[in-house]
Amino acid sequence: MQRLAPGMEMAFSERITRLKSSLIREILAAAQRPEVMSFAGGLPAEAMLPAVDWAELPASMGQYGMSEGEPALREAIAAQARALGVPCEASQVLIVSGSQQTLDLASKLFIDSGTEVLVEAPTYLAALQSFQLFGAQCLAVAQKADGPDLAALRAMLEQHAPAFAYLIPTFQNPSAVRYSEAKREAVADLLDEYGVTLLEDEPYRELVFDQGSARPIVSRLKRASWIYTGTVSKTLLPGLRVGYLIASADLFPYLLRLKQSADLHTNRIGQWQALQWLGSDHYQAHLGQLREFYRVRRDAMQAALTEHFSDLATWELPQGGLFFWLTLKQPLDTRTLLNRALAEDVVFMPGEPFFVEPDANPGYLRLNFSHVAAERMDEGLRRLAQVIRDAGALEAA
Ligand code: PMP
Repeated sequence: MQRLAPGMEMAFSERITRLKSSLIREILAAAQRPEVMSFAGGLPAEAMLPAVDWAELPASMGQYGMSEGEPALREAIAAQARALGVPCEASQVLIVSGSQQTLDLASKLFIDSGTEVLVEAPTYLAALQSFQLFGAQCLAVAQKADGPDLAALRAMLEQHAPAFAYLIPTFQNPSAVRYSEAKREAVADLLDEYGVTLLEDEPYRELVFDQGSARPIVSRLKRASWIYTGTVSKTLLPGLRVGYLIASADLFPYLLRLKQSADLHTNRIGQWQALQWLGSDHYQAHLGQLREFYRVRRDAMQAALTEHFSDLATWELPQGGLFFWLTLKQPLDTRTLLNRALAEDVVFMPGEPFFVEPDANPGYLRLNFSHVAAERMDEGLRRLAQVIRDAGALEAA
């Protein structure tokens, strides 16, 4: 059905009726005031954005480039993925404008109105936004501390035939869950058994605070098609807009053509800068500094949460990534807390939009620990806890 947008002469496409605004973008806009302590975004800490040198940028980088991406960067990414156990060649690597573009291209490749897509509950809200824009019917599988509920996953695959499964197995956004070895293996087996394509999204793999490391799920597949996507946004500079996808050979040609029709190619200047880092010793040193810096902030948040939230919520200590995921002991719609929190100069990310059915999943908060300085963490969380306590008292009254 075509619908006239209010005040517009134009008839938009049918999918525009499903276009949602991004709650997080709106919050970030409201949180621009310098006095606001933001636990909302997923941004790298300002202080940890590395200084980049553009002096050697060749003038030829201003010319159009190949849709696939810069050959040397594709080689570097393939080598890095092979080191993780992902069997691939540079010819399977497509450089994209941030891993967000992978989600868009995969949506265009697979989703018509009513197409089923399997996701974790909760999952990355901007992925839901993209899948739903194209008309996906998202099937949610509950997440446990070590990965998806396997019985629920099997039951879902028994009853449905999703076009693909979208998983974030390493320090998930928003839940910080890292799948165990056993769950990775079991999920790969199930996807193979039911012939379901896997879209594996790993922006946070390198932001790890313990010694744990686990091979990507795509590297364990024997039969199913796959797309593996990553980015330099969390480890280098999100402003570069450089990400990548690696796809099984049956999917790659389609993704390449979709990329061509979207934007011809990813910006070469950002690709050149990314290549100055990937695989280098100074990149390894930078990653080491990032992990140390974020671990200190994670620990500061853990201490402040223990102090102010022990009676209000439960959570796991994240071993990587950028987020704590809180479950309120007395669930309430956390979206209703935003304005009250903003009045106290704190902002956080409500949990509801990370679910396919937001209204059925009240009582979660995602708190980013990378952005607010360790010494302000305590005050920020004290204020947020008070907002929640006051709201709970109001509800009880
Ligand atoms: N996937 C996930 C799970 C994310 O958290 C993000 C960034 N918040 C992205 C994809 C997109 O990252 P980018 O486009 O900057 O690479």
